[in-house]
Amino acid sequence: MDQPGVACTNCGKNMTTDDLRRTSCVHCGQVLAHHARAAQQVAVINQMMGQYMAGAPPPIPPMMVGQIPPMMGNPMMGNPYVAAQMNAVNQGVKTAAMSVVLVSVIIGVVVVVLAVGGIVAFALVGR
Ligand SMILES: [Zn+2]
Repeated sequence: MDQPGVACTNCGKNMTTDDLRRTSCVHCGQVLAHHARAAQQVAVINQMMGQYMAGAPPPIPPMMVGQIPPMMGNPMMGNPYVAAQMNAVNQGVKTAAMSVVLVSVIIGVVVVVLAVGGIVAFALVGR
C-alpha cells in the first residue's frame, strides 16, 4: 500500500514523497499545486520588483484580485481548506511586501553612502 497522506488534486492518486519532489504528477502530468503556487508567488514578486524598479507604484497583482476577499464577515473563512489557501496567499503577499521594503532600505542606504562619500571626497579635494 502507498503511504497515506497527499493525493493528486487532479487524478486523486496517492503520491509518495518522491512524487512530491517532482513539479508535476507522475500519474496524470498535472502541475502539482504547491509548485504552481510557488511559481505564482515568484512571478508576483518579480512583477512587483520590476514595477518598483521602473518607478511605478506597485499595483495589486491580477492573480490576487478576487482571490483575497474582505477579512470581515467572509463565510469562506470557516472552511479550513480555504483558510489554509488564504494563509499561503497572505504569506506570499507578506514576502513580496518585505522584498519591496528591503529594496527601498538598500536603495536608501546606497544613496546616503554615496552622498556622504561625495561630501568627504569634496572636503578632501577642496583642501
Ligand atoms: Zn495526477
